[in-house]
Amino acid sequence: MSSIRYEKETVEKMIRLYCRRKHKSAPGELCPRCEATNRYAQEKLDKCPFGDEKGACAECKIHCYKADMRENIRVIMRYAGPRMLLYHPFDYLIHVLKDRK
Ligand SMILES: [Zn+2]
Repeated sequence: MSSIRYEKETVEKMIRLYCRRKHKSAPGELCPRCEATNRYAQEKLDKCPFGDEKGACAECKIHCYKADMRENIRVIMRYAGPRMLLYHPFDYLIHVLKDRK
């Protein structure tokens, strides 16, 4: 699987997990805020100029996320990341959008 496709699926899984646990959304559904975050993340991955050559977003020179979306995603990753490890050995995705500070 290409890295973009893998990332898109993984991001969506993380957002779904987060939304279900934190916002009590029904399985298979997202609250409006998470829906918007997911759509935004998917779009950014679609438009990533590096395509499948892309590395971790945290190491990328292009800061393509708006500040508020960055924050949303960061919170979601921090919550869902460790839990996702139970299901997926995605060691590098944890770094994808982690705080650069
Ligand atoms: Zn939500």
